Amino acid sequence: MQNQFRKRSTLVSVVVPCFNESDGLLGFHQRLSRVLDTITESVEVVYVNDGSVDDTRDVIDALRATDTRVGLVDLSRNFGKETALSAGIDNTRGDAVIVIDADLQDPPEYIPEMLHAYYAGYDVVAMKRGDRSTDTLFKRWSAKCFYKILARLSDVEIPENVGDFRLLSRRAADAVKSMPERNRYMKGLFAFVGFRTLEIEYKRERRDAGNSKWPLFKLLGLALDGITSFSIAPLRIASMAGALVAAGAFLYGLIVLTKTLIFGEPVAGFPTLIIAITFLGGAQLMAIGLLGEYVGRLLIESKQRPLYFVDTIALPEHDELNREVRKKAAG
Ligand code: UDP
Ligand code: MG
Repeated sequence: MQNQFRKRSTLVSVVVPCFNESDGLLGFHQRLSRVLDTITESVEVVYVNDGSVDDTRDVIDALRATDTRVGLVDLSRNFGKETALSAGIDNTRGDAVIVIDADLQDPPEYIPEMLHAYYAGYDVVAMKRGDRSTDTLFKRWSAKCFYKILARLSDVEIPENVGDFRLLSRRAADAVKSMPERNRYMKGLFAFVGFRTLEIEYKRERRDAGNSKWPLFKLLGLALDGITSFSIAPLRIASMAGALVAAGAFLYGLIVLTKTLIFGEPVAGFPTLIIAITFLGGAQLMAIGLLGEYVGRLLIESKQRPLYFVDTIALPEHDELNREVRKKAAG
């Protein structure tokens, strides 16, 4: 067990992706601040404004005016939470990076415990939703199905019910940064980098203000991203199913042929015919669609576009952070 009991870090970064969170952001920052005030490390809080259409940006600017620890990464448009997280992590400088949602579903009060685990030598501290009772029944059920399927198909083990709320050591954060893919299924990327990981169970709270930004079809898209970027098993299943059906069709052809040779050619079998045609047609379309999903992702990756564009970036000055450290050391 190497690097047990890490030396005390000087800077902890907190990354908060925000999309139309103006209603709750002040409250969030207050609660976060209360926690951050209790820890001895210097802190930077990087708010990523993911192309909000409300006045989230103004709220963040107001926070920056009153709190020198606050930084802003303002993206040029809405890129989605996964990319916003990357933009945030890319712009952190801390020895430990904590990722947290802006809606207070991830209680900031766990941060000291996460840091504690970090000092004990863990590179990744993942917060596991032990109790999802604040999620709807449907969300719980669909999440369960999704994690089951993903676990079966994927080559890396992506832990169940672990969200994006987590702590990354500098090297784990750098590892996440080094992965260039456009389809950023963050939970998968986090799992892919490995390192010593600790899971801490927590109770996910109800959203504090505003609504969830994940309508069903977006969640489905995320699920598809998760599966296709971490597994090619569906392609294998499709080709195997194809082979199986073809073999069955060949055998059936033989039977029909022998029967025709022996008993002549009765005009019958319309139901069999129509069933075979529609079934095969459906199966083929599905397999082609599946191929398309992968090919489409290949296309996106092959363009090598930047992940995101930044409109404005304003991070806390190092001087300020140092002053913060001195202040804490003195106090
Ligand atoms: N979010 C984001 N960009 C988006 C959607 C969401 O930055 O396009 C942020 C959002 O502001 C919040 C976090 O991601 O801080 C989690 O979003 P949400 O609460 O809607 O997701 P849920 O908790 O329902 O999974
Ligand atoms: Mg939420």
